[in-house]
Amino acid sequence: MSNRTFTMIKPDATGKGNTGAILSMINAAGFRIVAMKMTKLSKEKAGEFYAVHAARPFYGELVEFMSSGPITAAILEKDNAVEDFRKLIGSTNPAEAAEGTIRKLYAASIGENAVHGSDSNENAKIEGDFFFSKLEQF
Ligand code: ATP
Ligand code: MG
Repeated sequence: MSNRTFTMIKPDATGKGNTGAILSMINAAGFRIVAMKMTKLSKEKAGEFYAVHAARPFYGELVEFMSSGPITAAILEKDNAVEDFRKLIGSTNPAEAAEGTIRKLYAASIGENAVHGSDSNENAKIEGDFFFSKLEQF
């Protein structure tokens, strides 16, 4: 069954001019873009988005980084979208990411790792709704 995941092209990848190349990989892997916008998170909004990590030692760094520059947010549709997208992006730490994955190609470190991908159908819905109204999801 076709389902949806949520992604962000993070400030590092945006700043390096890799947005187009990453979107091209996403399309080539069979994902349909059903919502997309370029925006910039405030510290407050970045903190809210990653609230699940509030107790982790890297939370402050993560909020600083995610609010440091523009991002592209998108909702993607495909069979098995959540799991297949996590495979396409690769491990959180690019040093451990498989060859040919987005993080292997474009991420510099575990903190500045180019893209976000939802980890469950439930979170994909919550995260997509965080950025896009019903009228903006096609
Ligand atoms: P994302 O949720 O962004 O797709 P992920 O699911 O692979 O990444 P999480 O465990 O959810 O990884 O961590 C969220 C984000 O927090 C990571 O993508 C990374 O930017 C940052 N992060 C995770 N672990 C560390 C760490 N040890 N040091 C610094 N930053 C980290
Ligand atoms: Mg995660």
